[in-house]
Amino acid sequence: MRDFKKRKGRRKYRSTGVFFVEHIVALKMFKRFGHRSRLTAATVCRRAGNVAGRSFSADLRVAVVGSGPAGFYTTKYLLKDHPGSTVDIFEALPVPFGLVRYGVAPDHPEVKSVQKDFSNIASDERVRYWGNVKVGEDVAVSTLRDAYDCVVFAHGADGDRFLNIPGEKELAGVYTSREFVNWYNGLPEHRDLDVDLSGVKTVAIVGQGNVAIDCARILGKRIEDIKSTDIAEHAVDILSKSAVENVYVIGRRGHVQAAFTMKEMRELTQLAGCDLIIDEADLENGRTDASKEEIKQFRAKKRMDALLQKHVESPKGPGGEAERSISLRFFRSPTAMLPREGNLKHVGALQLEKTKLEGPAGSQRAVVTDKDDLEIIPCDMVITGVGYQSTAMEGLPFDHDSCVVPNARGRVHEGSAKGPLAGVYCSGWVKRGPSGIIGTNIMDARETVRAIVQDISDGLFSELKLGASHPGMDAVLTTHNVVDWDGYSRIDQLEMDLGEKSGKDRVKLVDVETMLEVSKVA
Ligand code: NAP
Repeated sequence: MRDFKKRKGRRKYRSTGVFFVEHIVALKMFKRFGHRSRLTAATVCRRAGNVAGRSFSADLRVAVVGSGPAGFYTTKYLLKDHPGSTVDIFEALPVPFGLVRYGVAPDHPEVKSVQKDFSNIASDERVRYWGNVKVGEDVAVSTLRDAYDCVVFAHGADGDRFLNIPGEKELAGVYTSREFVNWYNGLPEHRDLDVDLSGVKTVAIVGQGNVAIDCARILGKRIEDIKSTDIAEHAVDILSKSAVENVYVIGRRGHVQAAFTMKEMRELTQLAGCDLIIDEADLENGRTDASKEEIKQFRAKKRMDALLQKHVESPKGPGGEAERSISLRFFRSPTAMLPREGNLKHVGALQLEKTKLEGPAGSQRAVVTDKDDLEIIPCDMVITGVGYQSTAMEGLPFDHDSCVVPNARGRVHEGSAKGPLAGVYCSGWVKRGPSGIIGTNIMDARETVRAIVQDISDGLFSELKLGASHPGMDAVLTTHNVVDWDGYSRIDQLEMDLGEKSGKDRVKLVDVETMLEVSKVA
């Protein structure tokens, strides 16, 4: 498929080398016209200890772990509700913004405009950004707790929910939606995912949330309608060779319970070159008495019911011949992923049980109608879009059942019997689980900040660590390849410049080494 080789410890693309050649040229230009200014140990130390010299009266030293929406909104409201805070934001990657950069679909640039707000927050004199620092690995949670008055964990969900059915983890051609989304959005960890769409005619996506819909839309769209976004160049390369004709989006419940939302579904009904297929009988089966109650109670469900019904009666679309189709299939629950005939290591079909709804309005469950009445959908690729999941961090309490950091309104608890851990808070998906849109993090962050402010007024932070030097932190910030906000701004500028040259919103750098190189070129 793609051809890359290791050279001087760095992977270089050959067949899709245009992007890399371009950005190496740009790097050289930076080097010629500017001088390299590495963030020296002395500079970092000076900056780290310089808080007291600022023009405001600082009285609380906070570390925020994670620079996605939860981290930035927490920072925003800390600065607003407790103006004496100084905040150090730690991010595992050199680049910030988490799910805004790596989760939001490339063809939804308007959603990414929050990056401007977040950049304004990062530019506040009370905020410092420390990229390329993995908390729990490069710096221990205990070190952060010692060095700061309070630590807010807002590092999101970097794992997957699984179906736990045969074939899911063994067969090639099966991806989680997180992997697939990370791949097309250029997350370094997943840029080399072995996606090859040239021989793929049918894709089955399990789950009917917005992430599943994003994946379906990216697969269903014409390449000319997506290539000028900030989608990763390697994904453009693979998608432009796509042989995909059918995409199934499979849900175990009905359309009234589906997790996708209006805007995303309306977009699917109007996709150029791609039909949206819905079986009217599925909609009819979905209108149980309890579902009718749900439709009556929730305006969003009423609108969704009307949209899908209208679509089956008169599929509008943009007109013209469709090369592809996306089929929404309701009342089907996967029981196995089956191997392909002739290649037992690759997925060849998805096996489904048929289901129906049972239970009262608001908590209808999918129950199997007949265990022996199975449906097989032959397919060349499966994406499981059944949700993200937070993972445990060394040194931080974690509830392995609900996969969140145990907390009460943002105050982290050691366990149900024990009280809150002094000075340790959480925000976002690690706090509430992987649900909600970017804006949901606003209320969530405000709640956590309220807890912190309350604890300050209750005298919990009596021994302030402001300006204190901590040997553990100094070691990380001086010996580690830390990227500060200036460093990120250089990456941002280069990506935007490359984007302008190639007619894209942005050309993302997709490997950490190159990001680090670029961050240092002043
Ligand atoms: P989600 O909204 O929780 O959807 C998960 C889907 O997986 C549901 O359809 C669920 O069905 C299904 N599912 C879970 N377990 C299953 C199982 N064992 N078998 C079959 N199906 C199963 O998760 P998501 O799509 O990953 O989205 C995460 C959050 O990000 C959501 O709040 C979403 O709205 C948000 N997001 C928003 C946008 C946007 O605004 N454009 C884009 C992307 C993501 P059941 O309901 O039956 O459990």
